[in-house]
Amino acid sequence: MRIAFGEIVQETGTFTRARTGRDAFEAYGLFQGAELLEQLAGVGPLGGFLQVAADRDQAVELVPLSRAWAGAGAKILDETYDELLEMLLEPLRSAGELDALFLSLHGAASIERDDDLEGAVLEAVRDVIGPDVPLACPLDHHANITTRMVEMADLLVGHETQPHNTLGTGVKAARLLFDWLETGRRPTIGWRKIPMITPQDQFLTSGGPMKAWFDRARELEQRAEVLDVSPYPMQPWLDVAEGGWAVVVHTDGDADLADALAAEMGEMAWEMREDFWKSERVEVSEAVGRAYAHEDGLLILSDTGDSVYGGAPGDSTWILKELLAQATAQPESDRPMLVPIVDPDAVAVARSAGIGAEVTVSLGGKIDNEFSQPIEVTARVAAISENHEVHAGERGTAEIGQVVLLQSGPVHIVVMAAAGFAICHPMLYQHLGLDVGQARAVVVKTASNFQYFDDWRRALIRVDSPGMTQSDLAAFTWTRTPRPIFPFDADVTWDSGA
Ligand SMILES: [Zn+2]
Repeated sequence: MRIAFGEIVQETGTFTRARTGRDAFEAYGLFQGAELLEQLAGVGPLGGFLQVAADRDQAVELVPLSRAWAGAGAKILDETYDELLEMLLEPLRSAGELDALFLSLHGAASIERDDDLEGAVLEAVRDVIGPDVPLACPLDHHANITTRMVEMADLLVGHETQPHNTLGTGVKAARLLFDWLETGRRPTIGWRKIPMITPQDQFLTSGGPMKAWFDRARELEQRAEVLDVSPYPMQPWLDVAEGGWAVVVHTDGDADLADALAAEMGEMAWEMREDFWKSERVEVSEAVGRAYAHEDGLLILSDTGDSVYGGAPGDSTWILKELLAQATAQPESDRPMLVPIVDPDAVAVARSAGIGAEVTVSLGGKIDNEFSQPIEVTARVAAISENHEVHAGERGTAEIGQVVLLQSGPVHIVVMAAAGFAICHPMLYQHLGLDVGQARAVVVKTASNFQYFDDWRRALIRVDSPGMTQSDLAAFTWTRTPRPIFPFDADVTWDSGA
């Protein structure tokens, strides 16, 4: 049995004029051929695929193509996409006869000339492998499922949880693919688009309406003839054609059942649509006031508008500005307030000044000056580091790059030359000698991925900060998303067609 595998993953936020180039993919490891086998064991959906392939009784000949992964960011440049696609297609064209293709995608990536990167990639690989070779795709459940994706792929399997278990999704999709290859029974697909969009506030699958919706998917999967039920609450910073929530159901050959369950799952989300808009966001100055008053353990200040994992640049100054303003009322020796920010210019200034020097820098608000502005900060350079590596389990290895620690009273600012995975990870502070357990609060540039701080976390405030990933979705200008859509249009109705 010969199975080719590869990956092109990025999560696009469209509310910025910035663009993502090849360097963003190189930063996370752009791999070709045998490098995939060396680098991806235990990492992400392809790690899950490799694990299942190794566990099967039948011998599997693996044909590694290419792997491009870039976290979240702005739209991908057309020329970068063309290069990445060719890296995937070239070995696929010369792969010879294949029994299947396993292709890891995000589902919410856009390039300049096409809103739907995944649809374009699937169309291109289908063109090479022909209509009959099974094509399985693990996806992020924040994907925007499009007609082209459903037409081109055979299996579209989303994450079961937020925070995501990316390896587990790879395992699930790979098992369905191998079962198909071994039994010869082709899965059938049913799906629905749901005309709604919601902010990230209720995105965790551990509680609220999202838990109810995902729990129902797991319940339906208990039925023998149901292979997979994947809800897709699309990430909300994506203004694209066919934008909106979706659900995809795979059954063991029963097309009517797949269709009926997709309709049922769609109706369930639609009926809960108001609940998905419930919010506990706190205005910036009030959130910071509460943070300084916080006594017991570590408080997490979630910078919801500047979520790096959601595609924002990580250089918002909204919370930092308020932390510095309110710090004057605090003792110098107060428990630390930890804040990350991206600013390569400030890193250069601090590095040339050296450890112990006092510097005055214009900080942040430069990459994304649509939503926040630079602030002037005078602080002591307390530490400098370069190219420290973070090992983050199934996320693989990430390099922190150039970093400086600036201290101004109780506010400890870790300035990064470039954003990256570590921006929401305790390693960013620990590698500079800071004790996360002693801190009063930490700002995290995410609205969902707090899990890395679980050992210390005692409280959480979702800060209503402006930015590319803000929860106030009505403040963006939407031009591509199909209308009418809930909640932007009054009295939207939807019929699942059940
Ligand atoms: Zn996601």
